[in-house]
Amino acid sequence: MNTFRVLKTAVTDVAATTTQPGATAARTGVLNLSKGFTLQTPNFLAPTSRGVVPHLSPDNLEKNTGVEGVYVALEDFIEKAPQRVPPLYTYPSTLRSFISLPKSTFLVLSPRRSPAITCPKANSDANLSILTSVGFRDLPIKDYVSAIVRLEPDIVLGIADIANTVSPGKNRVQKMAMRTEKWLDELLGRVYECEDGSKDGEKKTVPAVFAPILPLEKERQRFYLSHLVENVEKLSGLVFTSADFVDVVPEELGGLPKLQSDVMGGPHQVLEMVGRGSDLFNVGFVGATTDAGIALHFTFSADEVGDGEEKLELATDMWDAKFATDLSPLDEGCECYTCKVHHKAYIRHCLEAKEMTAWVLLQIHNLKVVERFFGGIRKSIEEGWWEKGRSGFEKKYKSEMPVGTGLGPRLRGYQYKSVGGDKKLNEPAYRSLDSGDEDEL
Ligand SMILES: [Zn+2]
Repeated sequence: MNTFRVLKTAVTDVAATTTQPGATAARTGVLNLSKGFTLQTPNFLAPTSRGVVPHLSPDNLEKNTGVEGVYVALEDFIEKAPQRVPPLYTYPSTLRSFISLPKSTFLVLSPRRSPAITCPKANSDANLSILTSVGFRDLPIKDYVSAIVRLEPDIVLGIADIANTVSPGKNRVQKMAMRTEKWLDELLGRVYECEDGSKDGEKKTVPAVFAPILPLEKERQRFYLSHLVENVEKLSGLVFTSADFVDVVPEELGGLPKLQSDVMGGPHQVLEMVGRGSDLFNVGFVGATTDAGIALHFTFSADEVGDGEEKLELATDMWDAKFATDLSPLDEGCECYTCKVHHKAYIRHCLEAKEMTAWVLLQIHNLKVVERFFGGIRKSIEEGWWEKGRSGFEKKYKSEMPVGTGLGPRLRGYQYKSVGGDKKLNEPAYRSLDSGDEDEL
């Protein structure tokens, strides 16, 4: 059984009048997945690229990080379809095995990367527009639904029909809700048919299904939400692409865990979302920070902060030349592998030399900072100092991340938005010697 239990709800001014546990307040909980995973919330998921947490081999992920769950997109694996069968489908085992995911880490499967790049072609009744590594194409809904059985994720996210415009018209809104409902029913039907149809009489474990909440006001998705309420027994969670719509969730669904799939804004955004009752966070900002050569260093604690003090940076740009001879760790007192074994000068040298180790070491450290941050949030709710911790954090740290000054690792088209006329993302690695610009080489 996939279950979620709210353990404690933070008492705040807003929540003091709320009777529903966790409807609009920070809360701790425990998510149990049928395949034996247990997760304390609030907590984070690490986004993956083609099934890999960027820069980390599976053994590094297991040994040197506290990542408990990863967010994997099907669109990352199916560029050969429909002309050829993608290797993922000819491989004789599960997706977990295909990407060598450590046994202790659970897998969340989504149709699209997060944040998803907008496709030029709109979705249709039977297809979702996706972007694979070789371009845009359609993903038939039935293919995603049948892939679930074969790939055996621990959590599967329902497909939302999200319009390409920020404020869709009345007809489009109606279509969004109807398609999302129909696609969710197809997914639930397949998942539960699988459970009931096990031949050996033993019920097969089913993945936890998280239903998408549309980025629309409550009134505009009223019928869809009431459909979710009718099916609440079959749902194990809710997934949001925008934090602005957490409050549309009706009371009957308040006991389900809420996953925020696009968390690019950093720790202040996380705190805002935790404060509104979100439980799980796909932390895209960590990868973006690591790629920029930036080391995070923030903590969530009960320390008192004076009002007059200058705010601290959330992170440090490791490309800065002042670190060239700095033999101190990234963060004094950090227990991660990077901080125990290496110093700033070495990491900066690796960045300058475009040595991949730089990003490996930064990713290990940055994930550890985020792990401690979520640990602090849970502790604050448990011990009753959440509000104090949150306001202290806001007073203590600047709201923006510093901007990286160096080049990141090589970028790929399917990871970044581009519009016509953009400069190339990657500097050319080689130039012709007789092109007349030898002086620059
Ligand atoms: Zn560290």
